[in-house]
Amino acid sequence: MIYTLNLLFDHVYHINFKRHKDLWTTFYRSQEFYESPVFMNRAFYLCEHQNWYSSKHGQFSYSNDYHAFNVDGNHIAQALTCAPDWCKYDEQMLDVMSQIPEFFDPLKNFYLIGTSDENNENNSFLLHELAHGLYFSNEDYRNEINCLIMSEIPKDVRYNIWNYLKESGYNEERIWDEFQAYITTGFENDEKEKLIKPYEIALIKTFKKYVKDIII
Ligand SMILES: [Zn+2]
Repeated sequence: MIYTLNLLFDHVYHINFKRHKDLWTTFYRSQEFYESPVFMNRAFYLCEHQNWYSSKHGQFSYSNDYHAFNVDGNHIAQALTCAPDWCKYDEQMLDVMSQIPEFFDPLKNFYLIGTSDENNENNSFLLHELAHGLYFSNEDYRNEINCLIMSEIPKDVRYNIWNYLKESGYNEERIWDEFQAYITTGFENDEKEKLIKPYEIALIKTFKKYVKDIII
């Protein structure tokens, strides 16, 4: 596995792999433990998840469906600890964790965002993950952006986007986080991008204010 690991800002690390395969296999268990609508916060066999995912999508297209990843250290620790079918993917994540000091301190948490050279056009996926990192680590940003979502975006538009994200497979507990990340860094879905366009200015301005000191 070839990768670089850097501290981006307060307790938010960025790992960038050369190959997409190394990225998704490293994050796979932890990411699903963190936010899967079915497997969140529970021990699961990877084959169990693969069967569920395949029946939902017609095939196991996970590696094509996810371009970048985001998860916090506590969830990584729990996912690895309760893995009933420990495998080389878990070894990969443990290898990465061995380089993050906070992982071994139960009183500290951190956030890890992951991208790959093979799949990160114009840093767009990294920016999306950066918005998650900010939302996790910076209470001021989180409060400000949550207020703007409520004050700037009409209820029917909020409802429309919220449902779209839920149908896309996001766990309800993570939807507001996804909501802000997509609005501030762009939707892949053109129709949703058009819908949100008239209301996004203040949110993007706030996002830019917070990322201006972060060098990526
Ligand atoms: Zn996201």
